Amino acid sequence: MPTPSLSIDLDAIAANAAAVVGRCAAAGVRVIGVTKATGGSPQVARAMLRGGVAGLGESRLDNVRRLRRAGIGAPVTMLRIPSVTEAADVVSLCDVSLNSEALVLEALGRAAEEQGRVHDVIVMVEMGDRREGVAPAELMPLCEIAVSSPGLRLTGLGANFMCASGVLPTEAKLAVLVEEAERVEARFGVRLDTVSGGNSANLPLLEAGALPPRINELRVGFSILRGENAITGAPLDWLRGDAFTLEGELVEMKTKPSMPEGETGIDAFGNRPSFEDRGDRVRGIVNLGRVDIRLEGLTARDPDVEITTASSDHLIVDLTGARRFAVGDTVAFGLDYGALVQAFLSPYVEKRLAGRDAAEAGPGRVRVFADPALLAREETQDFLQAIREFGLGIETGGEIGPGDLPLWMPPDRGPTWEQITTDLPDRVELGLLWLDSEPGPAVAAEPDTLALVGLRAATPEQSEIIRRHGILALTMEDIDLIGIREAMRRALGRVTAMTEGFVLVLDASVGRGMEPDEMEAGLSYRECSTAMELVAQSGGLRGIAMTGFDPDAQGAALKAAHGYLMSALGKRILG
Ligand SMILES: *Cc1c(COP(=O)(O)O)cnc(C)c1O
Repeated sequence: MPTPSLSIDLDAIAANAAAVVGRCAAAGVRVIGVTKATGGSPQVARAMLRGGVAGLGESRLDNVRRLRRAGIGAPVTMLRIPSVTEAADVVSLCDVSLNSEALVLEALGRAAEEQGRVHDVIVMVEMGDRREGVAPAELMPLCEIAVSSPGLRLTGLGANFMCASGVLPTEAKLAVLVEEAERVEARFGVRLDTVSGGNSANLPLLEAGALPPRINELRVGFSILRGENAITGAPLDWLRGDAFTLEGELVEMKTKPSMPEGETGIDAFGNRPSFEDRGDRVRGIVNLGRVDIRLEGLTARDPDVEITTASSDHLIVDLTGARRFAVGDTVAFGLDYGALVQAFLSPYVEKRLAGRDAAEAGPGRVRVFADPALLAREETQDFLQAIREFGLGIETGGEIGPGDLPLWMPPDRGPTWEQITTDLPDRVELGLLWLDSEPGPAVAAEPDTLALVGLRAATPEQSEIIRRHGILALTMEDIDLIGIREAMRRALGRVTAMTEGFVLVLDASVGRGMEPDEMEAGLSYRECSTAMELVAQSGGLRGIAMTGFDPDAQGAALKAAHGYLMSALGKRILG
């Protein structure tokens, strides 16, 4: 496994979300799952939704866009108070926002009217943490704007604690929030749906049964992700603390004196390090540095590994008590919230899924979805027989279950895409490896886990989407330049990082032999075969769509496609 990498256990996140949701539900509180520390990771969001959160909370519009592009339709609350200039995007992307300024509310109201929507707003009350929110005396004029604007709906009041000044939520402070909510209700003759009491720091109060009954929402990120009490930092025994692990590789291990030799100055980050003389120590260097992580937020998972210091690219650890390590070994670290945020944002840290999902065994059966006429073709029957001989079962139609590798054979690209998105169970995180001369409907797939390979044409709209969303698109020109191996290495990296595997789309137009008229323009026979072998070696193949063949397709073209797909399947089975 290349390092450094951040491994993410979605089962742990889902379990934590379910535990928090369960405790909150018992107190009549719904949970907004906050994904901002993960840069709006759709995988993490879906794990939280699997755990039963009522909606998602985000602080950045870019992150919300990422969630929406991944097809997540759950209600999203904008947590950071919106800027005037963002108002239109907040309205179009988010369902609810937290607010404290009249000008912003007016801008949101105008934007909502223009878009023909009604945007829900929660007005934030300042309760001592001195971050966002208005003093109770200024509350009514703000609520007035929300109540009187046709584009807005005042859904409730909210408060936030433990953010800017570390002020703790208390029963008394929350009682004030509830009183304010009741004053607003009396004044405007409305019933507020939501009294949003705060973040993870409110969970200890909830556990103590000290949350006033009208508090019916909490916005929780930290405790779901970290499994810790947000106030004390202590582990919570009803949550898992192992959702995230940062792994680096040991690149040097030598015995060196613990004291530096020579005069010392300040380091590149403005610190003057100081050391304790402990004599000669076994020191290791891990390929992580301050560029990737916040050193102070790391804890080695192995208690015998001590963190000594770090520079931009080298993390120095003391291995005197852990001489069993050797160069090339992986060293694992837990991360605090700040380190987690940084690891998610660092382009140098690979993100991968761990846990049951990632370890799940490969498919045991191919489930075929094809037009009966194409299915009845002799070539198709031979292909299915060859698959059987490889030891995989064959089923036709029906529901895709665990252990199934779906094989779609629609004549067109559009319907394939619809099938892929509707047939696959929701909770599976799959990348999309699109081998086709055109992007087709793939540009609507989640950009972070999509790779287009072998492009020869794209509409201006498609090119624009590819550029804007940073989609990995490898044209025939790129492949001529870098070679099919490198192209596939990049493509497979994109579709397997942060997924539980990928669906391969192989269109007749991409390569030689599959579409008689396009012999010269696409991938050569050898390139196609190499690409398929690399697909097999990746171990991530979870579905196949063979597109561009109608029931009257030429026999030779069908056979060529079947040959390629056997390479994609076959090596995997032998391997
Ligand atoms: C970040 C944030 C939260 C979530 O806080 P956690 O400590 O991660 O639970 C809730 N509300 C607001 C306004 C936030 O900015």
